[in-house]
Amino acid sequence: MALADAAGFMFDLDGTLVARAPEGVVALPGAAAVLAAIRASGRPLVIFTNASDSDPGAIAQRLRRGGLQVADEEVLTAACSSLGHLRRRHPAARVLVLGTAVARRRFAAAGVSLIAEREAERAEVVLVLHVDDVALSVLEAAARAVLSGAAFLTANYVRAYAGLHGPIISRGAMAAAAIAKASGRRPTVVGKPSRAAVREVAARLALDPRRVAFIGDDIAMDIALGRLAGGQTVLVRSGMGGGGVVPANRAADLIVDGVGELLGRL
Ligand SMILES: [Mg+2]
Repeated sequence: MALADAAGFMFDLDGTLVARAPEGVVALPGAAAVLAAIRASGRPLVIFTNASDSDPGAIAQRLRRGGLQVADEEVLTAACSSLGHLRRRHPAARVLVLGTAVARRRFAAAGVSLIAEREAERAEVVLVLHVDDVALSVLEAAARAVLSGAAFLTANYVRAYAGLHGPIISRGAMAAAAIAKASGRRPTVVGKPSRAAVREVAARLALDPRRVAFIGDDIAMDIALGRLAGGQTVLVRSGMGGGGVVPANRAADLIVDGVGELLGRL
């Protein structure tokens, strides 16, 4: 199937459409034109970032300031798919959410029964989102909860994502790795790549995910997600995929140097 036949599109954000820096986001060459061309063709698109520290609306606003015309409802985060997973699989559980205050407020507002960090050992689910900072004592209590049978979920388990000034290490993955080491249990990813993320993309686009093209710079996240969905996959080498050797058995359906190269193929 050619990219022109895709019924909808999922784009990764960092390293695919933008480069992130402390001073803001910078749109990568051709990103705005590609989004505009897809809109002109009447097909839906969604941007899915494994970031889980901000609300989709705040991310969309940042992107608009950076020159990308993106609607609030076109942005999904790993927090969205995490919330969907909790609602389906652990609807009444006491959940320890390790994340930013913004994320915790959002989960509480969505009806999730949050447990305080001082009661972490009593959690029935431990969910790790992006954390700015977390105490070792809290990680230890979370590991004890996991050892006692709590479900162990993480939004992200990939070590880094592409920033303007080089890889940005994922603190959420660091925190999840610490709990994994201490508990001897591997976390279930509920951001990219996961069934929960596929489901979120399909629902937002109102499409069968097999008809969606998944475009991103990270083989272990974006391309893996597209493969899980059974959709087309496009690896852009502008971010994490840049400069690296792509193993043949994990290669995407299409590999381009940057998102701008897609213009002639849509
Ligand atoms: Mg990326």
